[in-house]
Amino acid sequence: MNAQALEHLQLRTALHHALANQEFVLHYQPQIDLASGSVVGVEALLRWQRAGDGLMAPARFIPAAEESGLIVPIGEWVLQEACAQAMRWQKAGLPEITMAVNLSAVQFRRGDLLQSVTQALAESGLEPARLELELTETLLLDDAEQVLETVRRLKALGVCLSIDDFGTGYSSLAYLKRFAVDKLKIDQSFVRDIVSDADDAAIVRAIISMARSLKLKVIAEGVETQDVARTLGLYHCHEAQGYHFARPMPADALTDWLRQRNAAQP
Ligand code: C2E
Ligand code: MG
Ligand code: MG
Repeated sequence: MNAQALEHLQLRTALHHALANQEFVLHYQPQIDLASGSVVGVEALLRWQRAGDGLMAPARFIPAAEESGLIVPIGEWVLQEACAQAMRWQKAGLPEITMAVNLSAVQFRRGDLLQSVTQALAESGLEPARLELELTETLLLDDAEQVLETVRRLKALGVCLSIDDFGTGYSSLAYLKRFAVDKLKIDQSFVRDIVSDADDAAIVRAIISMARSLKLKVIAEGVETQDVARTLGLYHCHEAQGYHFARPMPADALTDWLRQRNAAQP
């Protein structure tokens, strides 16, 4: 067996134990309303605290979790934990924010996603409108009928839907209507250089203008500088997320961050 295949196998075996061993953690990254500067939501981002190892980023283990189907139980845990955390912040008296959770296409195909979402909401007591599910463009393209039905039922629960990494897939405009999505997340690859790259700026402006005409919310990802944030404001982008505002951080650190920010704002 070559080294890569062996590593992959070891990763799968370790992933099997990771859930039971409670090795997963969620970090949360704030989402900012550009007009008011207030925090309107957070995105839950999965990390793996592997025994004897550092914190592992999702890009390194999500593909293996998807191939093995383990993303289904892992994704269920993410939904439960994220909803529970949103309620903890609500009960602690912090301003109400939306909790965004990333979904994998495999959860649509192999899991009972509707049941997982219903259960996470019921167990936590979180209002459905406070939960936002992030889908990808490719997800909406494959197996459209079954996905459409699940999406319809999720919408009927009252949860919000957003399209992650918008602009990197097929950007089919038909599905925006068909799936009644609420929000577009402009991919960071377009956002990064809007100040210096005229093409990127044109793409970002076009997405914002289209989103606004369709009455969708639009958020820019990967905002790393004040210049980019200001430019997005000039383009009338609703929201932004990125290192310029805050990095993803553990729940406790975000609690402090939210409190400090609240205290600083009149
Ligand atoms: P994503 O959903 O598009 O998440 C945004 C990624 O950009 C995150 O990487 C975040 O840490 C990073 N980021 C945020 N602000 C900045 C910035 O200003 N500059 C730069 N360069 N990067 C920024 P992360 O946490 O490594 O997550 C990577 C991807 O893994 C996510 O992309 C998402 O597709 C996936 N993922 C994360 N958590 C989950 C999960 O619970 N379930 C599933 N299925 N996928 C997840
Ligand atoms: Mg995301
Ligand atoms: Mg993204």
